[in-house]
Parts: sequence; structure tokens; C-alpha cells
Amino acid sequence: MTGSLCERINPVVRDMPPSGIRRFFDLVAETRGVISLGVGEPDFVTPWHIREACIYSLEKGYTMYTSNSGLLELREAIARDLGCSYGVVYDPREEILVTVGVSEGLDLAMRALVCPGDEVIMAEPSYVSYAPAVLLSGGRVVTIPTTMEKGFCLKAHQVERAITPRTKILLLSYPNNPTGAVIDRRTLAEIAEVAVARDLLVISDEIYDKLTYVGEHTCVASLPGMKERTILLNGFSKAYAMTGWRLGYACGPAEIIAAMTKIHQYSILCAPITAQMAALEALRNGRAMMERMVREYNRRRRLVCQAFRDMGLNCFEPGGAFYAFPEIRATGLTSEQFAQQLLLEEKVAVVPGDAFGPGGEGFVRCSYAASLEDISEALKRMAQFVRRLGVK
Ligand code: PLP
Repeated sequence: MTGSLCERINPVVRDMPPSGIRRFFDLVAETRGVISLGVGEPDFVTPWHIREACIYSLEKGYTMYTSNSGLLELREAIARDLGCSYGVVYDPREEILVTVGVSEGLDLAMRALVCPGDEVIMAEPSYVSYAPAVLLSGGRVVTIPTTMEKGFCLKAHQVERAITPRTKILLLSYPNNPTGAVIDRRTLAEIAEVAVARDLLVISDEIYDKLTYVGEHTCVASLPGMKERTILLNGFSKAYAMTGWRLGYACGPAEIIAAMTKIHQYSILCAPITAQMAALEALRNGRAMMERMVREYNRRRRLVCQAFRDMGLNCFEPGGAFYAFPEIRATGLTSEQFAQQLLLEEKVAVVPGDAFGPGGEGFVRCSYAASLEDISEALKRMAQFVRRLGVK
């Protein structure tokens, strides 16, 4: 073999930095006795009735492929859920595709829509997978900085200004990871008006919709003129504590769902039937347990935000998801230094804000999807750390 193997790797992949979260967690794995507020994963086990439904399905011999689009019964349940929650009507036969998590839905949507050089507009800071998904599809990422002062929300005039003749997609994500920001209906409606006027496609990742503590979640597709241009992504990982099951769904115009299904049928074939059976049970009978978990996150949310303020740090009030995003500039450290020193000195893991793009610098992401006991101990250690740095 001549030359280095690295030279043969697709340069887009070769030059892509590893996820800032992953990089940090390799460090965490090497340190003993760490309390982690790092992972964006429910600390709850999937409710028993959901696990039981999966076990029964195995007993009954449900071990085969399903249709590429997913079990029709599940797609019907998804359509019912969206209809009841947001009044958006999707045809389960043509407008819904069951995916391997929102992660696959995102990848499929980008691959189905983005042509080389197309621009995708997104807020910054934002979820770590968005920019790579665009780049892997040959697209260009256009970020709009959002600030704590403006509630970490995009504004219509910012979107308008970022549009060029190459803009194809606007990527929205509320409630937001890492900031916990929720967007009010009016602001979202103004953004939607721009999307309609400028004929943009919209990908809306609403994986945290059920984890909304302040106000009500607005489903982007429910706004006037939006259903026909929106690919709505959602899944079971967060709301039903089902991260490991790897199940999500994409809803959108039939032509786009058909294009996504084409890629899916040649790559994944179908989402695992076991997870689909479990998801069906989650939608049929999971609301009470889900609401109980959400109430618990909300209790922790209040505690965590207050604790950061008591430490003398600015802490934006997250209205959704399960992350607090305190500003750590007062400590004089960069977010990377803060996270590293906190890990070394106090054995508490948080994620440096710059893992979510340069706009996250000056902040750290702390997940409160951890037990109250762990959260309390971690906050005590963080308070000591921040005090030593002379804050307050
Ligand atoms: N979208 C956002 C905003 C997330 O925070 C995450 C996981 O942290 C995902 C998507 C991935 O979701 P899934 O587990 O359904 O692939």
C-alpha cells in the first residue's frame, strides 16, 4: 500500500475534530470517584411497563424486520400523539418515518436535502451533531450567535440577515441543548414568517418538547405555512428515558419523507422491532410516568439554578431540556480550563461551553439529569471551587 492511510480518508471526516463532549468524557473515564453532570441522559431507567412490553413482544416472537418506515401501528400512535399535543395532522403512511433516534433522522434529513455548497443556518451554541451532519452532507454551516441577554433564542431579523442565495435549510432546536432555552410562540412565528417568505426548508429538532417547564412548547410544524416545509424530528430518548433503545421519528412532506426513507432502506433497513414495540407502549401508556420524571427534573432545575446564583455566577433560567448553562467568566478561566480544573480538583464533570461552538465560550453545561444526591454533592464541590477562584 502506498502513502498513508490517512490520506485516503475523506478529508471532511479526517479534518473533523472529535466531539468536544466525547473528548472530555475520555478524561472523565480516567478519573476515579467523579460525579458527572456531564451526560445529557436521563438518570431514570426506562419505566417498567415499557420494558415489560418489549419482553412480551420477544416472548411472542417479534424478532423480524419491520417495514422500512416502521410498524404502522407505531406511526399511527405517533400521528395521534402529535395531533393531540399540537393539532398537527400527519398521514402515518406517507408522512412519518421511524428512525434510529433523532440522530438518524437528522442525518437522513441532511443527506436527503443538502447538495454540495448548500447553506444550513443554525443557532450557536447548539447541539454538537448539527454542524458535522451538515458537513458530512457536503453543506456549509452558517451560525447565528445567540446570547444569554436575548434568552439564547434566534430572532427573525438575524435569520433574515443570514440568508444568501445558497441558503436551503434553517435548523431549529427548542428547547435547546446546551442552553435549556425555550422559544416563545410569537418569536417562533416571526421566524416562521421569514422561512415562508424566503422559501426555506426547516428542520426542527424537538426532542425536548415534553421537557418544557416554562410556558408551552410550540411545534414548529403547527405554525401557518410551516407543515409543508418542516421536517420535524423527535424521539423517545429523553422524555421516556429510552436513550439506549435508539428510537425516534421524522415527520414531514411525503416527498421528503420518501427521499429519507430511500436512504434509510439502503443503510439501516428499519429501526429495531424491540425498540418499536417499546415505543408503542410508551405512547399508549407512558404519559403518567413521563410527567412524573418531568416534575422531578423541574424540581432539580430550580435547585441547580439557585445554587449557581448563590455561588455568584450568572445563570440563565432554562425553560426546558435538562441543562443549566451558568456563565463562568467571573472565575477568570476559559470554559475548557474551568471544566478541566473542576474535574481535577473537585472530581465533578461538566461540559465546557465551547464544545457547542465558539459561542458557548464563557459557559459550562451542567446536566441535572442526575440524582438529587449527586447534584447536591456536585454543587457543594463546585461552590468550594468557585470560592477558591475568588468569586463573591
Ligand atoms: N438532538 C438533541 C438536541 C440532543 O440533545 C440529542 C442527544 O443528546 C439528540 C438529538 C440525540 O437524540 P437520539 O438519542 O434520539 O438520537
